[in-house]
Amino acid sequence: MKYCPECATPLNQEEIYSKLRMACTNCGFIDWANPAPVAAAILRYGKQIVLVRNKREDRRGWGLPGGFVEPGENAEEGVLREVLEETGVKGRVNEVLMTHGVQRTKKSFLLIVFEVQRLDGELKAGDEIAEVKLVSLRDALKLVEGRLDEHILSHWAARRSIRFKPAASRAASTPGTNFRRDQT
Ligand SMILES: [Zn+2]
Repeated sequence: MKYCPECATPLNQEEIYSKLRMACTNCGFIDWANPAPVAAAILRYGKQIVLVRNKREDRRGWGLPGGFVEPGENAEEGVLREVLEETGVKGRVNEVLMTHGVQRTKKSFLLIVFEVQRLDGELKAGDEIAEVKLVSLRDALKLVEGRLDEHILSHWAARRSIRFKPAASRAASTPGTNFRRDQT
C-alpha cells in the first residue's frame, strides 16, 4: 500500500509495535497488512482423499480444495462452500486440523485446515477447477511433494495414526483416478 486509503497522503514506513509498517503522517492510518483467512480441506471420500488442480494456478499442480473465507462466513461455512464449489461434494467438518501462517511477498494468509467428511454428491470439477482426483494418502503425498500441502497431509497422517508404506518406487503413470470436466 503506497497511499493512505483514508486521505490519499503517501504512506511512510515506520516501526510500530516492533515491526516496519506503512503509516499515514496526516491522519494516523496504519496498514497492518493483516492476513486473509483461507480455509482448506482434507476431504475424506471413502478411504481416499480428494485433490484438485486449479485452472488459474495450474503450474502449482495438485492441492487440497479450499479458498478465501467470504465476508460474513465462519471458516467452517467457507470450507464447506469451497469443497462443494470445487469438487461437487457436500461435506461435514470433522475437526480443525491445524492453522498455518503463510507469508508471501505482497500478501499474507492465515490458512485454517479442516478434516471434512463427504456426506453426499459425486466428484465433479467446479468452474475454477481443471481436474479433481481421488487418491490414497500415499499418492496424495507424492503429488504435493515439497509444498505446504505435504506438510499438512503428513501432520494429518501422524495425527490419525494412519499407516502407509513409503513408495518403493515412483509409479510410471500419475497415480489416482482422474475426473476431468469433459467427462462429467
Ligand atoms: Zn491518511
